[in-house]
Amino acid sequence: MVIRLVLFGAPGAGKGTQAVLLEKHFGALHISTGDLFRKAMKEKAALGDQVRSYMDAGYLVPDEIVMNLVHQELVDVIKDNGFIFDGFPRTVPQAEAFSQILAKMNQSLTAVISLEVEQGLLVRRISGRRVCPKCAALYHVDTLINKEICPIDHSTLEQRKDDAEDAVETRLKTFALQTLPLKEYYQEKNLLLQIDGSGSPDAVFARILSRLQPVFN
Ligand code: ADP
Repeated sequence: MVIRLVLFGAPGAGKGTQAVLLEKHFGALHISTGDLFRKAMKEKAALGDQVRSYMDAGYLVPDEIVMNLVHQELVDVIKDNGFIFDGFPRTVPQAEAFSQILAKMNQSLTAVISLEVEQGLLVRRISGRRVCPKCAALYHVDTLINKEICPIDHSTLEQRKDDAEDAVETRLKTFALQTLPLKEYYQEKNLLLQIDGSGSPDAVFARILSRLQPVFN
């Protein structure tokens, strides 16, 4: 069976970490809109400039820009592969547009996984997050022996601009206001699986797999 998942959760809930584990396990494609935007900022000057100010300050990129950027990508992956969306959809209008694209292609979602994490832990996770600019691996400073170097390729690790304290506060507020309503949206469609997102990545992953099992049977 082809798996089609959406990972839902606040910034720092662990969507990116779980997406990588799920991608390996199911052989489905991991698509992070945050990563797509960060790539656009590096490559396409015009689009990059448009999204930079929103992202760095912790606001959502406007729906129209998001849909323009991801529309073709969505059509391509929905057609051929299983997928794991991480950070999309993030507003009800995005979810509606996504649902129309899926319906047009006679596809539907397997499940929406909501990673539930209390606010204090979210802030601790985000403030310790580091990313490798070369291989994109994610780390938390607490688990690194050398806090500045990527153990895979030895690049100097970076902190995302929007992981700075001010932006984090804005991101958490933006999540509560604009993204949280999606939970009800997917609950009504009977797609929502609420998973405790605390503990180690492996512990959370095991919870996700056990909740997905009945969906497959
Ligand atoms: P996190 O989930 O930890 O906030 P992401 O990398 O998913 O990290 O997103 C970083 C930023 O990218 C968001 O704060 C937002 O500005 C922008 N972004 C990503 N996905 C979307 C989306 N679907 N709609 C609007 N903005 C988005």
